Amino acid sequence: MDYNGRKLVPYIPPAEYDKVAYEFLEQFYPDALKNPMPVPIEEIARTGLGLDVRYVCLSEELDIYGMTIFTDGAVEVYDLDERLYDTRIFKAKTVLIDPEAVKKTNTGCKNNTIAHECVHWYKHRYYYKMQKLSLPRYANYCKCHVDQLPESKDEENIMESQAIGIAPRILMPKNTFIEAAEHLGISYGKDNRIAISTLADFYGVSKQSVEIRLEECSLL
Ligand SMILES: [Zn+2]
Repeated sequence: MDYNGRKLVPYIPPAEYDKVAYEFLEQFYPDALKNPMPVPIEEIARTGLGLDVRYVCLSEELDIYGMTIFTDGAVEVYDLDERLYDTRIFKAKTVLIDPEAVKKTNTGCKNNTIAHECVHWYKHRYYYKMQKLSLPRYANYCKCHVDQLPESKDEENIMESQAIGIAPRILMPKNTFIEAAEHLGISYGKDNRIAISTLADFYGVSKQSVEIRLEECSLL
């Protein structure tokens, strides 16, 4: 993997997303590369990557679905009871998931969100750890917005696109996913709705996410 030396943003063209997902699974859950099986991504996040996954409300508008924290410090969260924003201190390697906001994402499911944050830690931690803080007490983090790329910086847009692209490929690794889809008789031009629903339940992802993955694998 080539790193941009100055900015530490990995160069991963979309054609290599499957390869990165393969390398991730080879390291943390190689069984999923041998036979079709659901990928226990929350367990991998906790025990494989050592991330502390927590469920908290992140915004009043439910427009932030996840955050990965790269250095110790304060982070703004939304207190549902008090109905106001509050800062709380978190340790590096904490992932915050807003369970309500997750439902509003394109591929709305918790597993996809955890996989997305895993990609940020797996590939982007060097970049975020090295970012200079604008406020000294605050943590370095990335904030993932519902259905929109961050406005701030080009490099963050690139990394967000990488996480969006790679996360479903970790949950539905190409070769064994194709095997499962073919086993269910999925093919172009057929009514595949029941099979798509079966795959979504099996992999613990949304039907929309399965459909996108089938298209990527040239099965739809
Ligand atoms: Zn993200």
